[in-house]
Amino acid sequence: MERASASNPVSMEDVAALAKRRGFIFQSSEIYGGIGGFYDYGPLGALLKRNVKNAWWRDMVELRDDVVAFDSSIIMHAQTWKASGHLEAFNDRLVDCKVCKHRFRADHLKSLEQCPDCGSKNSFTPERAFNLMLRTFVGPMEDSASMTYLRPETAQGMFVNFKNVYQTARKRPPFGIAQIGKAFRNEITPGNFTYRLREFEQAELEYFVPDDGNDLKRFEEWVQLRKAWYAKYGITAERLRFYELTAEERPHYAKAGVDVEYLFPWGWGELESIAHRGTYDLDAHMRVSGKDLRFYDEASKTHYTPLLIESSAGMDRTTLVVLVDAFERETATDPAGKQTERIVLHFHPQLAPLQAAVFSLARNKPELVQRARAIEEGLRPRFRTQYDEGNIGQLYRRQDEIGTPFCLTVDYETLADSALTVRDRDSMRQERVAVDRLETYLHERL
Ligand code: ATP
Repeated sequence: MERASASNPVSMEDVAALAKRRGFIFQSSEIYGGIGGFYDYGPLGALLKRNVKNAWWRDMVELRDDVVAFDSSIIMHAQTWKASGHLEAFNDRLVDCKVCKHRFRADHLKSLEQCPDCGSKNSFTPERAFNLMLRTFVGPMEDSASMTYLRPETAQGMFVNFKNVYQTARKRPPFGIAQIGKAFRNEITPGNFTYRLREFEQAELEYFVPDDGNDLKRFEEWVQLRKAWYAKYGITAERLRFYELTAEERPHYAKAGVDVEYLFPWGWGELESIAHRGTYDLDAHMRVSGKDLRFYDEASKTHYTPLLIESSAGMDRTTLVVLVDAFERETATDPAGKQTERIVLHFHPQLAPLQAAVFSLARNKPELVQRARAIEEGLRPRFRTQYDEGNIGQLYRRQDEIGTPFCLTVDYETLADSALTVRDRDSMRQERVAVDRLETYLHERL
């Protein structure tokens, strides 16, 4: 029962097909033909993504006493984007093929001499900058004064509130501000399922540290912490890499940068970036707003601008990684010695949409149905559970495909011995467990 190895990644088509068939992810506005770069999470996908976000929030915010929670608005004052540099520099370089009229990101083309779609030579227009921010208007007038943007990242809301937060939360560097929220980018070539979206969610942590010579050490600690986080939730270590950006690859103000990358079926792709951004962001907002955002240190009676270590992770990309990494098509031998194929999602129990499914062996036996329903109801306050009934083979197959760690079956013997059959998703082993021991049993394993 080996997990697919780093060299044997699953196919994205298989994952997308399962995601649709079982209700994880649907194309947005599907009945109208869809809209590129937008997806909807179905009943199980919404649970999975929520569990991923909760895991991040629990570990990065709730279990730390040096990180505070935040939730800023998606639309901010337009000056925000002038200060952050997004108005000036958040651009992709675009070219159009004059023959087939297709548009490309210049940096995605192998050569600017030949169009990869129609094969025409020297058919590209000169490069031009395309800003990735989505525009909107606030209020009844649609003019330049009312124009603003949907945020392309959540971070700026935390920078402009730096002073509000440290004063009210009574924090002093080192401390962090964290939020999870939507961000929007008018990506030119969305694709690879939910990898590159135009509407997505980010989990960002802005960790402010004093300029005391320990900043690079603290940066390294954050990289290690994030590495441990992915390991905790069982992401295959061989399919993760922590790529250290060179000085040329980093923005000029950044002292260090690490991209967390996953080996997707199409190759390595970024899912998080960790960066030492110095004082760049607070300085920029102080310059444009004219307001003092420096930290006031009571002890030394001095003002200073703290350095920033940022961790910015995409929650849709992390959810996609969890899905891809858990996916396995395996061949097993059934009790009759026949080879069968099954698709199974080996989710970490904390991330699995459901943790235990309770079945009644028969649909038409009220005693069994009642007993199974009562057991499911009893477990519901403590675990994510579901009741189902019918053909056990089919029920197992369905729960394997949605990654439920345990299936509990109530059968005729249950009525006599008050025990039921617990079947483990990964090993497919079954054992009898007394109903009154179930809660402890599941607790120990989940
Ligand atoms: P890329 O190079 O893939 O465009 P980026 O370097 O621009 O990404 P950042 O600005 O560092 O990305 O954003 C931080 C995180 O936000 C990324 O690591 C990713 O997980 C997520 N993210 C960014 N753009 C998108 C997108 N279009 N769709 C989904 N997630 C995204």
